[in-house]
Amino acid sequence: PQVSIEQMLMELNPQQRRAAEIIYGPVLVIAGAGSGKTKTLTYRIANMIGRHNIQAKNMFVATFTNKAAGEMKERIIKACGPDAVSDIWAGTFHSLCVRILRRFGHHLGYDPKYSIYDQDDSHRLIYKVYQMHSVEDKYHPKQAAEFIGDCKNNLADVETAMVHRVYTTQDEMMAIVYRDYQMMLKEANAMDFDDLIMNTVMLLENFEEVRNWAQNKFQYVMSDEYQDVNHAQFRLLQMLAWPQNNIFVVGDDKQSIYRFRGSDIAHIMNFEAVYFPCNTVQLTINYRSNATIVAAGNGVIKNNTRQKEMTLIANKQGGQPINDVTLENEHKEAAFVSWLIQKAVKEGKRKWSDFAILYRTNNQSAPFEQLFLHNMIPHKVVGGLGFFQREEIKDIVSYLRVINNPKDDAAIGRIMNKPARGIGDTSQDHLQAFALSHKVSLHRAMKMVRDIDKINKRTGTKITEFVDLIEHFQKFLDMDVLRFCQYVLDQTGYVRMWENKATPEAQEKVENIQEFLRLVERYKQEHPDKELSEFLLETSLLMDFDNPAADNSVKLMTMHSSKGLEFPVVFIVGVNEKVFPSWRSKDQEDIEEERRLAYVGITRAEEELYLTHTTQRTNFRGGMELVEPSRFLDELPEEIVRKMEIPQRN
Ligand code: ATP
Ligand code: MG
Repeated sequence: PQVSIEQMLMELNPQQRRAAEIIYGPVLVIAGAGSGKTKTLTYRIANMIGRHNIQAKNMFVATFTNKAAGEMKERIIKACGPDAVSDIWAGTFHSLCVRILRRFGHHLGYDPKYSIYDQDDSHRLIYKVYQMHSVEDKYHPKQAAEFIGDCKNNLADVETAMVHRVYTTQDEMMAIVYRDYQMMLKEANAMDFDDLIMNTVMLLENFEEVRNWAQNKFQYVMSDEYQDVNHAQFRLLQMLAWPQNNIFVVGDDKQSIYRFRGSDIAHIMNFEAVYFPCNTVQLTINYRSNATIVAAGNGVIKNNTRQKEMTLIANKQGGQPINDVTLENEHKEAAFVSWLIQKAVKEGKRKWSDFAILYRTNNQSAPFEQLFLHNMIPHKVVGGLGFFQREEIKDIVSYLRVINNPKDDAAIGRIMNKPARGIGDTSQDHLQAFALSHKVSLHRAMKMVRDIDKINKRTGTKITEFVDLIEHFQKFLDMDVLRFCQYVLDQTGYVRMWENKATPEAQEKVENIQEFLRLVERYKQEHPDKELSEFLLETSLLMDFDNPAADNSVKLMTMHSSKGLEFPVVFIVGVNEKVFPSWRSKDQEDIEEERRLAYVGITRAEEELYLTHTTQRTNFRGGMELVEPSRFLDELPEEIVRKMEIPQRN
């Protein structure tokens, strides 16, 4: 160990230390942004391992990102040594559930080699179900996705939904779609993201073997960002913690920002009642930001009505005023931000990674990305269309998914004619129709191609060749993951397909594929004994949680993704009415959620904060439109704001 546990604990203030030293029973740490909640949670784990000889393998720790879990482990290793946390279960709810499901999913009829459907796969499946009921022109896949997600986040299975969640004829249709969607997922041996949590809870509730295993193993249950748990996650933690109730949660009700994904502030508000009697610790000192930034955060959030009373006191004094900057349009906005960043780096005052640009929605990143590219500012867009969502990467992963789990219809549909092998769109439609009417997977339908009259003999042969190719690959599954990927790419001619195109875009795709192979290589080194199926499960989660790399670059992300992070200089851009708060906000509750998001954004800053808004913006039709500054700007305490009008030179 590089530092002793004692030394490490000395870093904590008395309230933090008190929280870190309560090992048994329920504990709620509720505190404002930057008050050291995550730090306290981390140090508590180190304390339990280092001073109480509690084994890491008995801990279940839910974090907002897998990267956050990784950082936690690194910190603990410094005090407790490298082996101390090797078998801790720490990660997002999704990745923790994946592991439980791999082990016990068979109770629910899943093979351990199940696939995970991402949002795109799941929307396509919904569309297919719509087609079965001839309603594809009437509804958008988002509508069913929302209904189904809402059911799953609240642990309503199909039967429950049919009885309790149907109020209108549309609901009736959606419940039917839910039923068929679940049936088809099951047939594909696949789960969507929300299934991961719901199915784990089902396992715990209905199978004594699983419950006993989990409750014996996980003696200590912990969660960061508890303000954003949904009902299913709440229930999962509750089941795991039973019967000792050694449950330790940290959160900030003022930072609850995932209501649209079923997060419910009630869980943190009711914690003390649900886990009575419980130890509650409040942390009131902010160590992250200077006094001005803390005042800005407090000034905005105090306009909300529904929250626990609490003030946050800054540990750091002073700070320059908050910059409220008016610009002509989003291109000028990008130019201003780019200019300031370059200036500070050139003068040697800052490095690229000191800066973060936060916005309300992913599509706002475009003008910044373009200009940064042009100005050679190293930058990374976090979230959005991540690496794993790129066409070529999804294709490769789809090949692997099909080999691993041939029932995976979403993956097989994607690659059966890519590269082109003579299975055209019409033949694919016939296969689909046959699979649907005979209730079999696409793979099965392909094997039965001789029974499909509408597909001619020549195409039939091509289809059979494809099925044989997949079966051929399955013989090599125990090859190491990297060599296997290379073999598949080589045999299918997938890389050659892009190489032959010889366009700059195709060249970029080839480079991305090489990057993918480097990732696989690294994975192989870190996990020498893991099989392809585990690799696939882990990468499918990466798609949703593409994390910021710790390299020296400017980070761009939504305020939602910035939760838990901190940066010396933060720009919140597009601080305009209808952008932020979003035009979707209908009522007071929506506005309060947006205001919590503003609080999250503001409190990411350590030293400098810029809020920029424009007088005009490009609207969705491509024209320029006059826009208003956001109401949140008026809520900043006047005495700490510096208004900047950037001279317009046209
Ligand atoms: P958020 O609400 O944004 O998740 P948090 O409450 O989890 O914030 P941390 O991220 O744990 O806060 O801590 C914020 C910053 O303050 C970190 O840089 C951390 O190292 C620092 N910090 C926390 N506690 C102390 C302390 N007692 N002394 C010095 N620095 C501290
Ligand atoms: Mg935190």
